[in-house]
Amino acid sequence: GTVLIGGGTGFIGTALANSLKRHGYEVVVVSRKPGLYTLSWSDLNKNGLPESTTAVISLAGQNVLDPLRRWTEGFKQNVWASRVNTTRYLAEAIERAKVKPKVFVSASGVGYYPTGQEEVFMEDSPGGDFDFLARLCTDWEAAATLPDNTDVRTVKIRTGVVLGRPGGMIQQLFFPFFMGVGGPVGSGNQPMPWIHLHDIVGLFTHAIEQENVTGIVNGVAPQIITNGEFAKAFGQALWRPSFVPLPTFAVNLMFGEERAKIMTEGQKVWPQKALDTGYTYKYPDITSAAKEFSKLIYAD
Ligand code: NDP
Repeated sequence: GTVLIGGGTGFIGTALANSLKRHGYEVVVVSRKPGLYTLSWSDLNKNGLPESTTAVISLAGQNVLDPLRRWTEGFKQNVWASRVNTTRYLAEAIERAKVKPKVFVSASGVGYYPTGQEEVFMEDSPGGDFDFLARLCTDWEAAATLPDNTDVRTVKIRTGVVLGRPGGMIQQLFFPFFMGVGGPVGSGNQPMPWIHLHDIVGLFTHAIEQENVTGIVNGVAPQIITNGEFAKAFGQALWRPSFVPLPTFAVNLMFGEERAKIMTEGQKVWPQKALDTGYTYKYPDITSAAKEFSKLIYAD
């Protein structure tokens, strides 16, 4: 069948689209830019889902950690709308479709859970109401919720920091770590909920294919680590020292305290549902993951 991916041009979306194509799926992307096998958001709103769509995926979103964009009310509005509105457009297209897809999978974030070193959060832990990013996750998941009488399996993946060579945090950190001036953020004692790119792709695919996967799924690795342990594993994989800390105040200055929290603080999150529904991780520990995303020559 056809898998429709909103945000299928991005870091996770591209990797997911390539992997699905290798497994024999047709992939159509919804994007702001025109292209082959691409719908615009207004095409989607006007014409609905492409024929024979069996799965719909929501992965669009303005990059929260873009260092060139100041954390203003206007930018926060973009961050919100680029996730909540796009997810709602996909949901509405599903609601209007005469022939429904089997499954709707949307990204959300581990920012749903409070930061801290004490508690470990499972899918049914409370959260989602204490700061901008937590409320964004609540609204995003609500946008991905279909009416009760719609017979479409729905999955919301609360994704941790995705670690992969071609994008996201590793792309931003590769140069300093390669130069041997990388290191932890602040004390490095804050948790860092993470998952390897190939495993977030694997988990979205698991959600598409396995009928026992429904509702909230924590998209993290089955190994809870600190930011310092991440920095150490990345340095070791590159054969570089990685003990130069990035001071918390500098990160706050650069990004603004509210979103700097993604790096200066973190949540302890456990992937109970991924494990319960039989997902097998390719990179369950940060050492094996770091070996893969530290390769100098990268070919997907
Ligand atoms: P990317 O930054 O790669 O962006 C994904 C796509 O979103 C882009 O290719 C773009 O598609 C679309 N997009 C960007 N800005 C806007 C906008 N203002 N309006 C509409 N569409 C927009 O994201 P990732 O692949 O890294 O992440 C995908 C989703 O997963 C995001 O929602 C992100 O919040 C979430 N996530 C990611 C994590 C990570 O570590 N990467 C961690 C936790 C959650 P186009 O230009 O084709 O329109």
